[in-house]
Amino acid sequence: MINLLITGGAGFIGSNFTRFWIKNNPKDNVFVLDKLSYAGNKKSLEDLLNEKSNLTFIKGDICNYELLISFLEKYNITHIVHLAAESHVDRSITSPKNFIDTNINGTFFLLEAFRNYWYKKNKPSNYRFLHVSTDEVFGSLNDEDASFNESFPYNPRSPYSASKASSDHLVNAWIETYKLPINISNCSNNFGPYQFPEKLIPKAIIKILKGEKIPIYGKGENIRDWLYVEDHCRALELIIKSEFIGEKFCIGASNEIKNIDLIKLVCKEIDNLSISNLRKPSSELIEFVKDRKGHDYRYSIDSSKIKNLLNWESKISLKEGISKTIKWYLDEFEWWEQLSED
Ligand code: NAD
Repeated sequence: MINLLITGGAGFIGSNFTRFWIKNNPKDNVFVLDKLSYAGNKKSLEDLLNEKSNLTFIKGDICNYELLISFLEKYNITHIVHLAAESHVDRSITSPKNFIDTNINGTFFLLEAFRNYWYKKNKPSNYRFLHVSTDEVFGSLNDEDASFNESFPYNPRSPYSASKASSDHLVNAWIETYKLPINISNCSNNFGPYQFPEKLIPKAIIKILKGEKIPIYGKGENIRDWLYVEDHCRALELIIKSEFIGEKFCIGASNEIKNIDLIKLVCKEIDNLSISNLRKPSSELIEFVKDRKGHDYRYSIDSSKIKNLLNWESKISLKEGISKTIKWYLDEFEWWEQLSED
């Protein structure tokens, strides 16, 4: 049986992953450790906690080494999926310190706690750790550049991506030096339910529902490769259960699209729902705003390795994912209402 620790399990991907794991592995014990920063929301796990599933929630900071080591020992943790992070590029530009604290130092403390715990247990062969990272560590591509893959050189350009790149380097060093059973995954932009309203897709949906302007950086020319969060969760499960210990995997859906076209798609899908009192076409709400500092132009992922080794492929198309996401935000007004003040 697996005793799984999910750090950052009250965040966007973390809560989706917790839900996904409990549904698919009902016999496992799942422990969420989350500091509940502005981006963490216990409400995202409320139904699971009320159902008295095998889920335990503990509020705590991954920068607290003593807490981590006692946590691993107390719950006899066998697997760790490390999702706790500061994740918003704009916040990293205005206040980078939290990103250094959590993404770099927090990952260091977690690695050290896992190393000491695993050694003390005599290096059990079934124990695993998955460090979840981003494609942003590879930097920015031009239109003609080849996609990122596992051997692509790192070239982070924002405080967020630099902090994630640093954490990846630490993890690599702990794999090589201490032979810890860890994997790293680098994923493209995720979207789906429970995403904090400051991120592009939920922000656009909520602005449209409120009849407010939808801000888009620059001319909306930047290109991202969007992955529905459930497809990401499935990839993470495959990696942590795989035999490929120490390997790195890039995860993407080959859904490259310009921000402006993505938002137009969101507008079109909402317009098609015939919700009363909404301004139509909602694309009239789009407003171009001053570009983000150092805005990466394009991300693109080559997922051949995970396809070939683990038979993973994204299953949910961009259009289907967008319409599922819109439906979720329409149904879960109470979840986001308090969070979307700006
Ligand atoms: P998120 O901001 O929605 O959630 C992060 C969670 O971590 C929150 O619940 C927060 O409370 C918690 N947290 C922050 N600092 C903590 C600390 N010191 N101790 C304990 N908990 C802490 O982020 P997300 O979008 O769910 O991203 C999760 C991970 O996936 C991050 O590592 C991110 O870099 C990576 N990732 C995200 C995307 C994406 O598109 N969202 C894509 C690729 C990779």
